[in-house]
Amino acid sequence: MPMKRFVFIFMCLLTISACKGASEKEPSYIVQVSLGSWNSPDYTAEQVIGRIDTVSSLIPVRKVIIGWSLDKELYLKLGDFLHSRNIDMLLWLPVFAETEDVCDNSIATDLWGEVPANYDLTAGEGFRFNCPSDPLNAENLIALYDKCFSDCGFDGVFLDRIRTQSFVSGVSGVLNCGCPLCAGRFEEEGVDLDAVKAEWASKGDSFFSVTGYDPVTGFEFENPVAAAFFTAKGHIVSSSVAAIADSLRSRGLQVGMDLYAPFMAPFVGQDYDILSRHADFIKPMLYRQTFAPAGMGFEYELLLKAVPGASGYPEFTVDAAFLESQLKAMEPYPCEKYPGIEINYRESVVPTSPEYIKESLGAVMKHGFEGAVLSWNIMEAPEAHISCLKDRD
Ligand SMILES: [Zn+2]
Repeated sequence: MPMKRFVFIFMCLLTISACKGASEKEPSYIVQVSLGSWNSPDYTAEQVIGRIDTVSSLIPVRKVIIGWSLDKELYLKLGDFLHSRNIDMLLWLPVFAETEDVCDNSIATDLWGEVPANYDLTAGEGFRFNCPSDPLNAENLIALYDKCFSDCGFDGVFLDRIRTQSFVSGVSGVLNCGCPLCAGRFEEEGVDLDAVKAEWASKGDSFFSVTGYDPVTGFEFENPVAAAFFTAKGHIVSSSVAAIADSLRSRGLQVGMDLYAPFMAPFVGQDYDILSRHADFIKPMLYRQTFAPAGMGFEYELLLKAVPGASGYPEFTVDAAFLESQLKAMEPYPCEKYPGIEINYRESVVPTSPEYIKESLGAVMKHGFEGAVLSWNIMEAPEAHISCLKDRD
Protein backbone atom coordinates (compact mmCIF):
# COMPACT_ATOMS: atom_id res chain seq x y z
CA MET A 1 0.00 0.00 0.00
CA PRO A 2 2.54 2.68 0.98
CA MET A 3 4.53 1.74 -2.09
CA LYS A 4 1.51 2.34 -4.37
CA ARG A 5 0.89 5.68 -2.75
CA PHE A 6 4.52 6.60 -3.18
CA VAL A 7 4.38 5.74 -6.90
CA PHE A 8 1.18 7.78 -7.27
CA ILE A 9 2.70 10.86 -5.62
CA PHE A 10 5.85 10.44 -7.65
CA MET A 11 3.83 10.30 -10.89
CA CYS A 12 1.88 13.42 -9.87
CA LEU A 13 5.08 15.33 -9.20
CA LEU A 14 6.48 14.20 -12.53
CA THR A 15 3.36 15.41 -14.37
CA ILE A 16 3.40 18.76 -12.59
CA SER A 17 7.05 19.38 -13.39
CA ALA A 18 6.52 18.38 -17.05
CA CYS A 19 3.62 20.84 -17.40
CA LYS A 20 5.63 23.56 -15.73
CA GLY A 21 8.50 22.99 -18.14
CA ALA A 22 6.21 23.34 -21.15
CA SER A 23 4.41 26.48 -20.05
CA GLU A 24 7.33 28.42 -18.59
CA LYS A 25 9.74 28.75 -21.46
CA GLU A 26 12.80 30.68 -20.37
CA PRO A 27 12.58 34.20 -21.90
CA SER A 28 15.33 35.02 -24.37
CA TYR A 29 16.92 38.05 -25.95
CA ILE A 30 17.22 39.47 -29.43
CA VAL A 31 20.14 41.83 -30.00
CA GLN A 32 20.30 44.71 -32.52
CA VAL A 33 23.53 45.71 -34.26
CA SER A 34 23.48 48.89 -36.32
CA LEU A 35 26.19 48.93 -38.99
CA GLY A 36 25.23 52.41 -40.22
CA SER A 37 23.95 52.98 -43.73
CA TRP A 38 24.12 50.88 -46.93
CA ASN A 39 27.82 51.40 -47.52
CA SER A 40 30.90 50.44 -45.54
CA PRO A 41 29.90 49.02 -42.15
CA ASP A 42 30.83 50.88 -38.96
CA TYR A 43 32.27 47.67 -37.45
CA THR A 44 34.19 44.62 -38.61
CA ALA A 45 32.79 41.08 -38.40
CA GLU A 46 35.34 40.38 -35.63
CA GLN A 47 34.14 43.34 -33.56
CA VAL A 48 30.52 42.25 -33.86
CA ILE A 49 31.37 38.62 -33.10
CA GLY A 50 33.37 39.71 -30.03
CA ARG A 51 30.48 41.73 -28.70
CA ILE A 52 27.87 39.01 -29.30
CA ASP A 53 30.21 36.49 -27.68
CA THR A 54 30.39 38.64 -24.53
CA VAL A 55 26.66 39.28 -24.41
CA SER A 56 25.70 35.66 -25.01
CA SER A 57 27.94 34.56 -22.15
CA LEU A 58 25.74 36.67 -19.84
CA ILE A 59 22.23 36.10 -21.21
CA PRO A 60 20.51 33.69 -23.62
CA VAL A 61 20.66 35.34 -27.07
CA ARG A 62 18.24 33.84 -29.59
CA LYS A 63 18.51 36.16 -32.59
CA VAL A 64 20.74 38.97 -33.85
CA ILE A 65 19.26 41.74 -36.00
CA ILE A 66 21.93 43.42 -38.12
CA GLY A 67 21.99 45.87 -41.03
CA TRP A 68 21.87 47.42 -43.41
CA SER A 69 25.33 47.60 -45.00
CA LEU A 70 25.74 45.81 -48.34
CA ASP A 71 28.91 44.05 -47.09
CA LYS A 72 28.16 40.40 -47.82
CA GLU A 73 31.45 39.11 -46.36
CA LEU A 74 30.60 40.49 -42.94
CA TYR A 75 27.25 38.67 -42.87
CA LEU A 76 28.77 35.40 -44.07
CA LYS A 77 31.39 35.46 -41.30
CA LEU A 78 28.95 36.50 -38.63
CA GLY A 79 26.37 33.97 -39.82
CA ASP A 80 28.86 31.11 -39.42
CA PHE A 81 29.59 32.19 -35.88
CA LEU A 82 25.92 32.72 -34.93
CA HIS A 83 24.75 29.46 -36.44
CA SER A 84 27.46 27.54 -34.55
CA ARG A 85 25.88 29.00 -31.40
CA ASN A 86 22.31 28.26 -32.52
CA ILE A 87 21.52 31.98 -32.88
CA ASP A 88 19.43 33.24 -35.83
CA MET A 89 20.67 36.10 -38.00
CA LEU A 90 18.08 38.59 -39.25
CA LEU A 91 18.63 41.37 -41.76
CA TRP A 92 17.61 44.79 -40.45
CA LEU A 93 15.78 46.18 -43.47
CA PRO A 94 14.22 49.67 -43.67
CA VAL A 95 11.04 49.50 -45.76
CA PHE A 96 9.49 52.92 -46.32
CA ALA A 97 12.51 55.14 -45.56
CA GLU A 98 16.31 55.25 -45.96
CA THR A 99 16.06 53.58 -49.38
CA GLU A 100 16.99 56.60 -51.52
CA ASP A 101 20.58 55.42 -52.10
CA VAL A 102 19.59 51.95 -53.30
CA CYS A 103 16.09 52.17 -54.84
CA ASP A 104 14.32 54.66 -57.06
CA ASN A 105 11.19 54.91 -54.92
CA SER A 106 8.26 57.32 -55.03
CA ILE A 107 8.10 59.61 -52.05
CA ALA A 108 5.19 60.07 -49.60
CA THR A 109 3.37 63.38 -49.53
CA ASP A 110 0.93 64.93 -47.11
CA LEU A 111 -2.72 65.48 -47.99
CA TRP A 112 -1.78 68.74 -49.74
CA GLY A 113 0.79 67.10 -51.99
CA GLU A 114 3.78 68.49 -50.07
CA VAL A 115 6.75 66.41 -48.94
CA PRO A 116 6.96 66.64 -45.13
CA ALA A 117 10.13 68.06 -43.63
CA ASN A 118 12.40 65.17 -42.71
CA TYR A 119 14.37 64.48 -39.58
CA ASP A 120 18.09 63.78 -39.76
CA LEU A 121 19.38 61.76 -36.84
CA THR A 122 22.69 60.60 -38.31
CA ALA A 123 24.06 59.74 -41.70
CA GLY A 124 21.96 56.92 -43.08
CA GLU A 125 18.95 57.78 -40.95
CA GLY A 126 17.15 60.56 -42.76
CA PHE A 127 13.59 59.44 -41.99
CA ARG A 128 12.38 60.52 -45.45
CA PHE A 129 9.43 58.29 -46.22
CA ASN A 130 8.22 56.60 -49.39
CA CYS A 131 4.61 56.15 -50.44
CA PRO A 132 3.22 53.04 -48.74
CA SER A 133 0.87 52.23 -51.64
CA ASP A 134 3.10 52.34 -54.70
CA PRO A 135 3.55 48.69 -55.77
CA LEU A 136 6.88 49.64 -57.36
CA ASN A 137 8.25 50.62 -53.94
CA ALA A 138 7.43 47.17 -52.58
CA GLU A 139 8.84 45.48 -55.69
CA ASN A 140 12.07 47.47 -55.43
CA LEU A 141 12.54 46.43 -51.83
CA ILE A 142 11.98 42.74 -52.49
CA ALA A 143 14.29 42.94 -55.52
CA LEU A 144 16.94 44.56 -53.30
CA TYR A 145 16.67 41.68 -50.86
CA ASP A 146 16.91 39.08 -53.63
CA LYS A 147 19.86 40.75 -55.30
CA CYS A 148 21.97 41.83 -52.33
CA PHE A 149 20.99 39.75 -49.30
CA SER A 150 19.49 36.40 -50.34
CA ASP A 151 22.89 34.63 -50.32
CA CYS A 152 24.24 36.08 -47.07
CA GLY A 153 22.96 33.37 -44.73
CA PHE A 154 20.03 35.24 -43.20
CA ASP A 155 17.35 33.29 -41.34
CA GLY A 156 14.93 36.19 -41.45
CA VAL A 157 14.27 39.85 -41.96
CA PHE A 158 13.48 42.53 -39.44
CA LEU A 159 11.29 45.20 -41.04
CA ASP A 160 11.92 48.76 -39.87
CA ARG A 161 10.30 52.06 -40.99
CA ILE A 162 7.01 50.29 -41.67
CA ARG A 163 4.94 53.41 -41.20
CA THR A 164 4.46 56.97 -42.39
CA GLN A 165 6.26 59.96 -40.96
CA SER A 166 5.16 60.90 -37.43
CA PHE A 167 4.56 64.20 -35.61
CA VAL A 168 8.33 64.70 -36.09
CA SER A 169 7.11 66.56 -39.22
CA GLY A 170 4.07 68.04 -37.48
CA VAL A 171 0.56 67.48 -38.79
CA SER A 172 1.97 67.05 -42.31
CA GLY A 173 3.76 63.91 -41.10
CA VAL A 174 0.61 62.13 -39.97
CA LEU A 175 -2.00 63.47 -42.45
CA ASN A 176 -0.12 61.41 -44.98
CA CYS A 177 0.22 59.86 -47.60
CA GLY A 178 -2.06 61.86 -49.87
CA CYS A 179 -0.69 60.96 -53.30
CA PRO A 180 -3.20 59.94 -55.98
CA LEU A 181 -2.51 56.22 -55.42
CA CYS A 182 -3.17 56.53 -51.69
CA ALA A 183 -6.22 58.74 -52.31
CA GLY A 184 -7.65 55.86 -54.35
CA ARG A 185 -7.03 53.41 -51.52
CA PHE A 186 -8.60 55.76 -48.98
CA GLU A 187 -11.63 55.94 -51.27
CA GLU A 188 -11.87 52.13 -51.28
CA GLU A 189 -11.88 52.38 -47.48
CA GLY A 190 -14.77 54.85 -47.69
CA VAL A 191 -12.66 57.93 -46.89
CA ASP A 192 -12.67 61.00 -49.16
CA LEU A 193 -9.39 62.85 -48.62
CA ASP A 194 -10.92 66.13 -49.85
CA ALA A 195 -13.46 65.82 -47.05
CA VAL A 196 -10.63 65.15 -44.56
CA LYS A 197 -8.79 68.27 -45.73
CA ALA A 198 -11.98 70.35 -45.50
CA GLU A 199 -12.61 69.04 -41.97
CA TRP A 200 -9.06 69.87 -40.88
CA ALA A 201 -9.34 73.34 -42.47
CA SER A 202 -12.55 74.12 -40.60
CA LYS A 203 -11.78 72.47 -37.25
CA GLY A 204 -8.05 73.10 -36.94
CA ASP A 205 -6.33 71.46 -33.97
CA SER A 206 -9.62 70.14 -32.58
CA PHE A 207 -9.70 67.75 -35.55
CA PHE A 208 -7.28 65.74 -33.38
CA SER A 209 -9.29 66.00 -30.13
CA VAL A 210 -9.97 62.75 -28.31
CA THR A 211 -12.79 61.83 -25.95
CA GLY A 212 -10.51 59.71 -23.84
CA TYR A 213 -7.67 57.28 -23.54
CA ASP A 214 -7.91 53.64 -22.59
CA PRO A 215 -4.58 51.86 -22.05
CA VAL A 216 -5.79 48.81 -24.00
CA THR A 217 -7.83 50.35 -26.83
CA GLY A 218 -5.92 53.64 -27.06
CA PHE A 219 -7.20 57.11 -27.95
CA GLU A 220 -10.80 57.62 -29.07
CA PHE A 221 -11.13 60.40 -31.67
CA GLU A 222 -13.99 62.82 -31.10
CA ASN A 223 -14.32 63.76 -34.76
CA PRO A 224 -15.76 60.91 -36.90
CA VAL A 225 -13.85 62.09 -39.98
CA ALA A 226 -10.55 61.91 -38.06
CA ALA A 227 -11.49 58.50 -36.64
CA ALA A 228 -12.30 57.12 -40.10
CA PHE A 229 -9.12 58.61 -41.57
CA PHE A 230 -6.82 56.97 -39.02
CA THR A 231 -8.60 53.61 -39.20
CA ALA A 232 -8.26 53.64 -43.01
CA LYS A 233 -4.64 54.78 -42.79
CA GLY A 234 -3.88 51.82 -40.51
CA HIS A 235 -5.46 49.45 -43.02
CA ILE A 236 -3.61 50.96 -45.99
CA VAL A 237 -0.11 51.18 -44.51
CA SER A 238 -0.30 47.89 -42.60
CA SER A 239 -1.74 45.82 -45.45
CA SER A 240 1.12 47.04 -47.67
CA VAL A 241 3.56 45.93 -44.97
CA ALA A 242 1.70 42.61 -44.68
CA ALA A 243 2.13 41.94 -48.41
CA ILE A 244 5.88 42.62 -48.18
CA ALA A 245 6.14 40.38 -45.10
CA ASP A 246 4.24 37.58 -46.86
CA SER A 247 6.52 37.82 -49.88
CA LEU A 248 9.61 37.49 -47.64
CA ARG A 249 8.06 34.65 -45.64
CA SER A 250 7.37 32.78 -48.88
CA ARG A 251 11.19 32.72 -49.26
CA GLY A 252 11.42 30.76 -46.02
CA LEU A 253 12.39 33.79 -43.95
CA GLN A 254 11.07 34.62 -40.50
CA VAL A 255 9.79 38.17 -40.17
CA GLY A 256 10.09 40.55 -37.24
CA MET A 257 8.56 44.03 -37.13
CA ASP A 258 9.65 47.29 -35.52
CA LEU A 259 6.56 49.05 -34.19
CA TYR A 260 5.66 52.27 -32.43
CA ALA A 261 4.36 51.78 -28.89
CA PRO A 262 0.66 50.84 -28.99
CA PHE A 263 -0.58 54.30 -27.88
CA MET A 264 1.16 56.14 -30.78
CA ALA A 265 0.89 53.45 -33.46
CA PRO A 266 -2.43 54.58 -35.03
CA PHE A 267 -0.98 57.99 -35.93
CA VAL A 268 1.71 56.40 -38.13
CA GLY A 269 -0.52 53.78 -39.78
CA GLN A 270 0.48 50.76 -37.70
CA ASP A 271 -2.52 48.52 -37.13
CA TYR A 272 -1.26 45.89 -34.64
CA ASP A 273 -4.12 43.58 -35.51
CA ILE A 274 -3.13 43.36 -39.19
CA LEU A 275 0.64 43.41 -38.65
CA SER A 276 0.80 40.76 -35.94
CA ARG A 277 -0.92 38.27 -38.25
CA HIS A 278 1.92 38.58 -40.78
CA ALA A 279 4.87 38.58 -38.38
CA ASP A 280 6.74 35.89 -36.46
CA PHE A 281 7.41 38.47 -33.80
CA ILE A 282 6.74 42.13 -33.13
CA LYS A 283 9.04 44.54 -31.34
CA PRO A 284 7.19 47.56 -30.02
CA MET A 285 9.75 50.27 -29.28
CA LEU A 286 9.02 50.95 -25.62
CA TYR A 287 11.73 53.58 -25.41
CA ARG A 288 11.52 55.90 -22.42
CA GLN A 289 15.02 57.36 -22.78
CA THR A 290 15.13 57.99 -26.52
CA PHE A 291 14.83 61.63 -27.54
CA ALA A 292 14.55 60.89 -31.25
CA PRO A 293 11.84 59.32 -33.46
CA ALA A 294 9.96 56.44 -31.75
CA GLY A 295 10.91 57.60 -28.23
CA MET A 296 7.56 57.42 -26.40
CA GLY A 297 7.77 60.71 -24.50
CA PHE A 298 9.52 62.40 -27.42
CA GLU A 299 6.76 61.53 -29.90
CA TYR A 300 3.94 62.37 -27.48
CA GLU A 301 5.40 65.80 -26.77
CA LEU A 302 5.62 66.47 -30.51
CA LEU A 303 1.93 65.54 -30.85
CA LEU A 304 0.97 68.01 -28.10
CA LYS A 305 3.16 70.69 -29.69
CA ALA A 306 1.78 70.07 -33.22
CA VAL A 307 -1.88 70.42 -32.17
CA PRO A 308 -1.91 72.52 -28.97
CA GLY A 309 -5.63 73.22 -29.43
CA ALA A 310 -6.63 69.54 -29.41
CA SER A 311 -8.36 68.44 -26.21
CA GLY A 312 -8.58 65.20 -24.26
CA TYR A 313 -4.89 64.22 -24.29
CA PRO A 314 -3.81 63.24 -20.78
CA GLU A 315 -0.49 64.24 -19.30
CA PHE A 316 1.63 61.11 -19.34
CA THR A 317 4.61 60.51 -17.13
CA VAL A 318 6.64 58.00 -19.07
CA ASP A 319 7.56 55.96 -15.99
CA ALA A 320 7.57 52.25 -15.12
CA ALA A 321 3.76 52.23 -14.75
CA PHE A 322 3.41 53.69 -18.24
CA LEU A 323 5.75 50.99 -19.58
CA GLU A 324 3.51 48.41 -17.91
CA SER A 325 0.42 49.89 -19.62
CA GLN A 326 2.06 49.46 -23.03
CA LEU A 327 3.04 45.86 -22.24
CA LYS A 328 -0.56 45.20 -21.33
CA ALA A 329 -1.78 46.76 -24.59
CA MET A 330 0.40 44.30 -26.57
CA GLU A 331 -1.12 41.22 -24.95
CA PRO A 332 -3.96 40.41 -27.37
CA TYR A 333 -1.86 39.97 -30.52
CA PRO A 334 -1.22 36.52 -32.00
CA CYS A 335 2.54 36.39 -32.58
CA GLU A 336 5.67 36.31 -30.44
CA LYS A 337 6.32 39.53 -28.56
CA TYR A 338 9.74 40.98 -27.85
CA PRO A 339 9.42 44.57 -26.58
CA GLY A 340 12.42 46.74 -27.42
CA ILE A 341 14.36 48.48 -24.67
CA GLU A 342 17.21 50.80 -25.56
CA ILE A 343 20.53 49.93 -23.96
CA ASN A 344 22.90 52.02 -26.06
CA TYR A 345 24.01 55.42 -24.85
CA ARG A 346 24.36 58.77 -26.57
CA GLU A 347 24.43 61.99 -24.62
CA SER A 348 21.12 63.88 -24.98
CA VAL A 349 19.71 61.49 -27.66
CA VAL A 350 19.62 58.31 -25.57
CA PRO A 351 20.92 59.04 -22.04
CA THR A 352 20.31 55.57 -20.61
CA SER A 353 21.83 54.18 -17.40
CA PRO A 354 22.28 50.71 -15.88
CA GLU A 355 19.43 51.51 -13.45
CA TYR A 356 17.08 52.40 -16.31
CA ILE A 357 18.00 49.24 -18.21
CA LYS A 358 17.51 47.01 -15.18
CA GLU A 359 14.14 48.58 -14.38
CA SER A 360 12.87 48.33 -17.98
CA LEU A 361 14.11 44.81 -18.74
CA GLY A 362 12.91 43.66 -15.32
CA ALA A 363 9.39 44.84 -16.16
CA VAL A 364 9.44 43.30 -19.64
CA MET A 365 10.76 39.92 -18.52
CA LYS A 366 8.32 39.77 -15.63
CA HIS A 367 5.43 40.33 -18.03
CA GLY A 368 5.83 36.85 -19.48
CA PHE A 369 6.28 37.45 -23.22
CA GLU A 370 8.89 35.52 -25.21
CA GLY A 371 11.63 37.97 -24.29
CA ALA A 372 13.06 41.40 -25.10
CA VAL A 373 15.05 43.13 -27.82
CA LEU A 374 18.19 44.94 -26.71
CA SER A 375 17.94 48.09 -28.86
CA TRP A 376 19.00 49.97 -30.81
CA ASN A 377 22.71 49.25 -31.15
CA ILE A 378 24.57 46.82 -28.88
CA MET A 379 27.88 48.14 -30.27
CA GLU A 380 27.15 51.54 -28.67
CA ALA A 381 26.25 50.11 -25.28
CA PRO A 382 28.78 50.97 -22.54
CA GLU A 383 30.35 48.07 -20.62
CA ALA A 384 28.24 48.83 -17.55
CA HIS A 385 25.06 48.47 -19.63
CA ILE A 386 26.12 45.01 -20.69
CA SER A 387 27.49 43.73 -17.39
CA CYS A 388 24.26 44.76 -15.65
CA LEU A 389 22.31 42.32 -17.84
CA LYS A 390 23.70 39.44 -15.82
CA ASP A 391 22.62 40.59 -12.36
CA ARG A 392 19.17 41.75 -13.42
CA ASP A 393 16.96 40.51 -10.53
ZN1 LIG B 1 0.96 57.45 -51.46
